[in-house]
Amino acid sequence: GEVVVADVHEGLDSTLIMLKHKLKHTSIKVKREYDETLPKLTMRGSELNQVWTNLLDNAIGALGETGTITIRTLPDNGCVRVDIADNGPGIPEDVRARIFDPFFTTKAPGSGTGMGLDTARRIVEQRHGGSLSFESNGEGTVFHVWLPIDGKKK
Ligand code: ADP
Ligand code: MG
Repeated sequence: GEVVVADVHEGLDSTLIMLKHKLKHTSIKVKREYDETLPKLTMRGSELNQVWTNLLDNAIGALGETGTITIRTLPDNGCVRVDIADNGPGIPEDVRARIFDPFFTTKAPGSGTGMGLDTARRIVEQRHGGSLSFESNGEGTVFHVWLPIDGKKK
């Protein structure tokens, strides 16, 4: 792909606009804690909006009717870091090891393909040379995405 300079905040905001229809019948609050000094990313092409879509869709699903999603950005050690947190029920311990497996889902048949996290991780790691991890407990879940500022660097 061609070299693009990506503004992560613009990508997050346009993803939120795409997800508005899912949010509007809920009382879920979205808090954006953006670091205004965040560097832009230089990369070859970008599929990052698919990553934000998949992580935010999961957060919305975990919350259901109410709760808070916090999107935080910060420069971190040569990377841009994006944290997407929800204060939902968390990921049960016996499920944590499998959430990135293709086709793994705890959702009702027809409401989840189980491909969201597998796809997100492949885009972040293979396409952008970054990493994707999570922490979860009874107070919620946070996914951390690290993206190298210079996309050519691993
Ligand atoms: P799907 O959303 O289609 O189930 P994903 O790959 O996106 O597939 O997610 C896999 C599973 O990981 C979900 O079914 C759910 O059990 C768990 N999960 C992902 N994100 C969250 C979250 N924010 N809170 C709780 N569970 C989550
Ligand atoms: Mg999903």
